Amino acid sequence: MQPPSDMRQVAVLGATGSIGTSALDVIARHRGRLRASVLGAGSNAGDLVRLCIAHQPDHAVVADPAAYPALRDGLREAGLATRAHAGAEAMEALAAGPGCDTVVAAIVGAAGLGSTLAAAHAGKRLLLANKESLVLAGELVMAAARRAGAEIVPIDSEHSAVFQCLRSCRADGVRRLVLTASGGPFRGWDRARLAQVSPAQAVAHPKWSMGPKISVDSATLMNKGLEVIEACHLFGLPPARISVLVHPQSLVHALVEYVDGSTLAQLGLPDMRTALAVGLGWPDRIDSGVAGLDLLAQGRLDFEAPDLEAFPCLRLASEALAAGGTAPAVLNAANEEAVSAFLQGRVGFLAIPALVEQSLAALPAAPADSLETLLAADAAARRDTRQRIDAMASGSHGA
Ligand code: NAD
Ligand code: MG
Repeated sequence: MQPPSDMRQVAVLGATGSIGTSALDVIARHRGRLRASVLGAGSNAGDLVRLCIAHQPDHAVVADPAAYPALRDGLREAGLATRAHAGAEAMEALAAGPGCDTVVAAIVGAAGLGSTLAAAHAGKRLLLANKESLVLAGELVMAAARRAGAEIVPIDSEHSAVFQCLRSCRADGVRRLVLTASGGPFRGWDRARLAQVSPAQAVAHPKWSMGPKISVDSATLMNKGLEVIEACHLFGLPPARISVLVHPQSLVHALVEYVDGSTLAQLGLPDMRTALAVGLGWPDRIDSGVAGLDLLAQGRLDFEAPDLEAFPCLRLASEALAAGGTAPAVLNAANEEAVSAFLQGRVGFLAIPALVEQSLAALPAAPADSLETLLAADAAARRDTRQRIDAMASGSHGA
């Protein structure tokens, strides 16, 4: 049966993750208007089959070929017509193919770049949660989207906030953007205390429930550094016009200041379904399942400057952005490797900024005009960081 032509066919890539399941929650609230037609995940075939039973997509894809038999057999045993696919190329082909008009890019890390770029080249509406693809190859993603007429709607709470605020006038009326940061679980801590934190403490975010990698990025403030780079690409502004303000209640997501002195802010409860509903419904507003804001019940709103001494990752991201070329790709790759080693208990928390700083010093910024150059920089930074991690892990623990 042909779906109605105004029905959005949505590919959710990273479907088994935090953003993916939030996207599917919103999609399921609008059965007449939204449909999950493609679901993709890394290697967890069991979870993906369960999502297929609930959402009945046309296609399901795992990046890891070793997970293919479990996906294929699971779909067959469930009696589903969903076709099974595997591999990064299949993920990209489905993102670009006729089976969807909208792509929720919710894969974690640089692994999301291929499908993000494929969706941009194919002119899809791109609901972009995978911020690492913009940090790694922001110019290429934005240029591909421009050329193909792909509409990018950011799915990061701060960038969704800016996106919403910007709809009040033309972009040249903007003076600056302010991204808020919760400050993470260790706000107010000094380096001596930070040296001791465990992975379990780092992923226990006080306000947001998120995947492990972005939770650690929030605890180091690297997340905010990645978001400043993301904002430069999305909104075409220089770094000097984007600043960061710590706001522990996480209710004000971003502010846009205009040349006339007016500032617009977007507020809402810390639940990513709001940003996803903005992207899935745009330009209509649709129900997300998130309650409105009761400011009397929430109490006060606080703001403070970030502590760059205790949390150097924000400074390192700014430096990589200023250096340009391959530097943001190196920053991102070194950070992914360092965070993964921290989560495995191989290095301490303060090793994360130390490893990123060492990689940026070892691999100075070079001009980056092609995907090949950026992917080579990503690979070199991963090799470099892994060697340092091995040396650290076999010596004394931590930074
Ligand atoms: P998560 O760890 O919960 O989920 C990650 C998803 O990616 C899973 O479905 C996993 O199977 C899939 N995946 C992992 N490796 C893959 C690979 N090589 N190929 C294909 N799929 C792969 O992560 P998350 O918290 O949902 O974050 C996803 C992205 O969204 C990240 O880029 C993150 O920075 C961004 N983001 C998340 C939030 C949030 O609230 N969780 C907010 C803003 C931005
Ligand atoms: Mg964010």
